[in-house]
Amino acid sequence: VSFGYEDVAPGEKTRRVGDVFRNVAARYDLMNDAMSGGMHRLWKDRFVRRVKPREGEQILDMAGGTGDIAFRMARHGAAITVADINGAMLEVGMERAAKRGIDGLVWTEANAETLQFPDRFFDAYTIAFGIRNVTDIPAALKEAHRVLKRGGRFYCLEFSTTLWPGFADVYDAYSHRLVPKLGKLLANDEDSYRYLIESIRRFPDMETFKGMIGDAGFTQTRVEPVLGGLVAIHSGWKI
Ligand code: SAM
Repeated sequence: VSFGYEDVAPGEKTRRVGDVFRNVAARYDLMNDAMSGGMHRLWKDRFVRRVKPREGEQILDMAGGTGDIAFRMARHGAAITVADINGAMLEVGMERAAKRGIDGLVWTEANAETLQFPDRFFDAYTIAFGIRNVTDIPAALKEAHRVLKRGGRFYCLEFSTTLWPGFADVYDAYSHRLVPKLGKLLANDEDSYRYLIESIRRFPDMETFKGMIGDAGFTQTRVEPVLGGLVAIHSGWKI
């Protein structure tokens, strides 16, 4: 299977991404721990500290998958809508919520590029490890801007490119050699994990992505690199 997607039609990329997350849904949480050595938990904790969800706020967790970000935000009393294009990921999320006794979340299937929510509805929009999978990223950013209230905030957590040279080499070797093997071993799905690594490599660098957020209409755009930019937290305000 080839996942080079500059050569495939946009609908085809969306379909392939759908296949990937349907295939990995059941093993998704285990794989995150295995591949990041548990570090994704710390990145997500930090991300939610930046978002500062507050009691009574309406927050959209886009590409929310199995609920990691939503569960962390729900602790602060905000009303959370978890939206994802993939029903299989949401189902795993709903089961996890039930097991943990977390209720009150709204789970809904949606494509980030075309949202069914009204204009100026949410106080915050979060997207964690989701935006790089979206086919039309500028369209998704515009939709994020549309559904936010004035004064609303946008937060994105995503893999990026580390600016620490030695570390970049180590990470490159790790991701290209080891991650697909882990995918095969733990989820019996080497191709999906090859795609995930490839999508990280193709994602725009931190400054370029920050510019794209500005282009969608956000102001005070910022980027906070983690591990030299291996992971990055981008944010912006709608005024
Ligand atoms: N946010 C969760 C987390 O941090 O654990 C899940 C991240 S997972 C790597 C990426 C998610 O993006 C998947 O659940 C996938 O279905 C979703 N996704 C991909 N393309 C999407 C799109 N166009 N619209 C909405 N969700 C999308």
